[in-house]
Amino acid sequence: YQRIVLANRPRGPVTPENFRLETVEVPELADGQLLVRNHYLSLDPYMRGRMSAAKSYAAPQALDETMIGGTVGEVVASRNPKYAVGDFVAGMFGWSEMGVSDGALLRKLDTTRIPPSAYLGPVGMPGMTAWYGLNQILQAKAGETVVVSAASGAVGGVLGQLAKLRGCRAVGIAGGREKCDYVVDELGFDACVDYKAGKLDEDLAAATPVGVDAIFENVGGAVFDAALARTNAFARVALCGLIAGYGGEELPIKNARLLLLNRITLRGFIVTEHPELWPQGLGELAGLVAGGKIKYRETIADGLAAAPEAFMGLLKGKNFGKQLVRLI
Ligand code: NDP
Repeated sequence: YQRIVLANRPRGPVTPENFRLETVEVPELADGQLLVRNHYLSLDPYMRGRMSAAKSYAAPQALDETMIGGTVGEVVASRNPKYAVGDFVAGMFGWSEMGVSDGALLRKLDTTRIPPSAYLGPVGMPGMTAWYGLNQILQAKAGETVVVSAASGAVGGVLGQLAKLRGCRAVGIAGGREKCDYVVDELGFDACVDYKAGKLDEDLAAATPVGVDAIFENVGGAVFDAALARTNAFARVALCGLIAGYGGEELPIKNARLLLLNRITLRGFIVTEHPELWPQGLGELAGLVAGGKIKYRETIADGLAAAPEAFMGLLKGKNFGKQLVRLI
């Protein structure tokens, strides 16, 4: 089967030469192990951080090892009594068509109500990020205005829908008219501002007539500054991501004085910091997705070899919704 390893670390933008496609033998299973044929690989912005050797909340991705990544797939052979051939599982098998596991870090999936790929999106790590950020970090209340950037994406799309379910006014920021129309018309946000249209500050002011109480920040830079400019006193910021800076770009905060004047609480967070909350969060998200209360969209690249290009696209906003790679 095939896998993709990190060949070398990017200097500046990610390039195809940073990756290497390899063919490896399917190993013999030991007692207690199972073999999974991956159906989907999740591509996520955090992978950019792992590709670099800079200090972070997690150790860097090792060179010449399978690129890290979340996967869903089907058990095709099992010497583990807890898993049968045909079971669907979510795991971290990385950029690879297959994976061997002792079962410890796998999650068995109910694919009768929810399609397998959704476990990498709204019912997986991105959905959990929105759930945790809104409920635990922002603690958004009914009637408040919540702004979220990268609003059409895997995390942002769920964030705004959860905010609506809590009775908030949900305002998105996204790149392009098509993404913004989707955020309002399909996902049900109250408004969405296209930051590429050239009048972000003006448009965001119009979309937030009574100011902003909570910011869920995914991007940084000018997008974050525009949201800060609209904050009310005692607004909160959940700093989830700074994707505009993942290529090494500097992200100055021009409206820093508003952090003081508006007595803002800013809290960065990593979704894995409270693993004990995941069962509750994922359980709620599963119910909402199965019940059609949370909608989502996917951009699917075909075949493992397409993963590097799809990943580079994700870092430039070419994806529209959750970026996946189909492996079967
Ligand atoms: P998305 O599906 O939202 O895809 C990334 C999007 O970011 C792109 O589609 C694009 O949307 C936007 N983007 C990319 N580059 C830029 C740029 N230079 N300036 C502005 N926007 C840009 O990804 P996810 O939902 O998976 O992740 C969203 C954010 O959440 C990321 O910052 C990620 O790192 C973070 N995250 C943090 C976690 C945590 O634990 N703290 C966990 C999971 C994700 P557009 O076209 O609208 O610009």
